[in-house]
Amino acid sequence: FAKKHGRNQAVAFNEELAKASEERSQIEHALRRADLEKEIHLVFQPQMNLHTENVVRAEVLARWNSETIGPIEPGRFITIAEESGLITDISLTIIEKAFREIREWPVPLPISLNLSSHDIISKPTIDRIIDLARSLKVDPERVEFEVTETAMMADTEKAIANLTSLKDAGFSIALDDFGTGYSNFSYLRSLPITKLKVDRSFLENPGDPMTEKVLSSLAGMARTLGVHCLLEGIEDEIDLLMARRIGVQSVQGYLFGRPMNAHDLLELARRSAGADSYDRDRMRNPA
Ligand code: C2E
Ligand code: MG
Ligand code: MG
Ligand code: MG
Repeated sequence: FAKKHGRNQAVAFNEELAKASEERSQIEHALRRADLEKEIHLVFQPQMNLHTENVVRAEVLARWNSETIGPIEPGRFITIAEESGLITDISLTIIEKAFREIREWPVPLPISLNLSSHDIISKPTIDRIIDLARSLKVDPERVEFEVTETAMMADTEKAIANLTSLKDAGFSIALDDFGTGYSNFSYLRSLPITKLKVDRSFLENPGDPMTEKVLSSLAGMARTLGVHCLLEGIEDEIDLLMARRIGVQSVQGYLFGRPMNAHDLLELARRSAGADSYDRDRMRNPA
């Protein structure tokens, strides 16, 4: 019986695998043929200053509604795009859309944009981003790029050189999903970053006494590095109290707003604040 049972499980497992791989190639195929300009759109999630609760920035998040297969989550299509060499076009489409969008805003609200692993190590992509801002007359001071430690691991030296070019051009850099990678202090110190975004997974067990200790030490690292600290994934008042206790400067999460269209974002920003608060969130790397 055990033998038979085991064989059935193996068959089920192989079927799962085959299904997953079929789905993956379906997405890749659709991505290859997609009209990116038309099928990709942007949503914006507000980041709030923890003390004033004003909107101080918005993270740009990509959405793909495939004409042939419908909406696909970004975590999924970005990964497939990376693996199949389609990411550069997609990233540049997203960045250009974002630059064109924020030029039209009535207030100079800053944004942050996610860069993928391949973008970070590609000098032509970085140069193209800098050119785009210049030709579209977007002030780099309004734009932050988010990168993850894992994305930099492919080639740390190239990543640091490229991020330094972005910083020299006036953009700022945030380390996304902070706390899930190596977080080695001397390594962090070598990165041209101005902000740490603490990963939202740390808020999954708010009752656990370790949670607060770990979060406090991550926020402490930001203070020691002299960089801004944001806590992601604030979903309720309990999370918000935690953010206040551990002492971060800003927060992002469903409690303040889900990713939304630009109109709703600007309305939320208008209701929450005056334009003067946008600069309060800035803290340049002191070095
Ligand atoms: P990320 O950069 O860490 O983005 C934050 C993700 O957490 C977003 O998911 C956001 O909707 C979600 N989130 C925000 N607040 C909360 C909360 O309070 N609770 C929960 N449960 N989730 C929250 P989204 O939009 O599905 O994006 C997932 C990932 O896909 C992003 O993680 C990022 O790695 C990637 N991604 C999205 N847009 C882009 C893009 O334009 N370029 C690149 N390279 N990657 C992108
Ligand atoms: Mg991000
Ligand atoms: Mg994140
Ligand atoms: Mg929670």
